[in-house]
Amino acid sequence: MSFAELWRQLEPIGRHPAGGYRRYSWTPADAECRAWFTRHADGLGLTAEQDRNGNLWAWWGSRDAAREDAVVTGSHLDSVPDGGGYDGALGVASALAAVAELKSRNFNPERPVAIAVFTEEEGARFRVPCLGSRLITGAIEPGAARALGDDDGVTLAAAMTAAGCDAGLIGADEGLLARLGAFVELHVEQGRALAPMGAAIGVAEGIWPHGRWRFDFAGRPDHAGTARLADRNDPMLPYASTVLAARQAAADHGALATFGKVIAEPGGANGVSSSVRAWLDARAPDEETLGETAAAIRSAAEISAGEHGVTLTVRQESYTPLVRFDETLRDRITGVLGAAGITAPVLPTGAGHDAGVLAARIPTAMLFVRNPTGVSHSPAEHAEEADCEAGVHALALVLEDLAG
Ligand SMILES: [Zn+2]
Repeated sequence: MSFAELWRQLEPIGRHPAGGYRRYSWTPADAECRAWFTRHADGLGLTAEQDRNGNLWAWWGSRDAAREDAVVTGSHLDSVPDGGGYDGALGVASALAAVAELKSRNFNPERPVAIAVFTEEEGARFRVPCLGSRLITGAIEPGAARALGDDDGVTLAAAMTAAGCDAGLIGADEGLLARLGAFVELHVEQGRALAPMGAAIGVAEGIWPHGRWRFDFAGRPDHAGTARLADRNDPMLPYASTVLAARQAAADHGALATFGKVIAEPGGANGVSSSVRAWLDARAPDEETLGETAAAIRSAAEISAGEHGVTLTVRQESYTPLVRFDETLRDRITGVLGAAGITAPVLPTGAGHDAGVLAARIPTAMLFVRNPTGVSHSPAEHAEEADCEAGVHALALVLEDLAG
């Protein structure tokens, strides 16, 4: 099965007429994606199964429970709302195509090889990203996971039950983890580092630490036509200067800071707001820089709130520390690719992945496939077919080296 044929079959699933993908976990589109995967895993002679947490696995070679060194590749098939077609899906299709390439060369793995498809990686439906890998590793408590709800109030437990799974079984899976020796996730590049370097393939260095903070600016509602400027306590003003301060702090620190969501109450077009609630997403190359960036933004917000007689409360909602991928594995991969004449620069990334969650437990690495636009989580996300083929070949070389 060629990559092009795999891709041709997967491409229409869950695509909205407007162009973006809506492949949310435990929906009919998700079931179709899963059926596509299982059909092709079966076709390759792999043993496909679903684990207790709803992740899919396709095993090649010994499933002897005593083996503790399986080489795993894969990614996810769910998408963000109106996302691109490559994020996650490219890693799964490439994994199937890489195994097909190895089988066509009559390669016989010494170590078991598995392809994994992690569920709810984007957190688009139940709001916790990397939910499938977090459940396996015990990074989220099963009771809390079961109670997670979507926009319609459907819980994860109910959605899994409707899909024929026993949600009572979810949770840490040490038996499965014990069988895994290494995980290599291929992913479309998110950002635009490879194109200027003229490289089709990159290797991940690590994942930037990132955090999310909620800023609540509380002022006093008033009439837009009668309240004198000097008499106002308008929370929109310190919010606006905080957005600009965030941009400046990010630039000063070599970090990223984004206010992507804001709610102004009561939301009248002819009134001064009573409150503005906004969420800051900040990421940086290291935790110290992230802390300094967030502190600079907070202090600018406090000063501006004080100037306008507005009360400010800041709450950290989430924090993910720096992820370092396994250096030995990374050097081995760059070595294998280099020996095959493939230059694969080592790149940092600001995006979270299942590989980042699994890195806490097993040696993990990532391969990136060039994204000429650099855009992701959007229908503009793209990879040229030749680069996808190069990714498949690179992944096959890596699997052959690790499992051979
Ligand atoms: Zn992804």
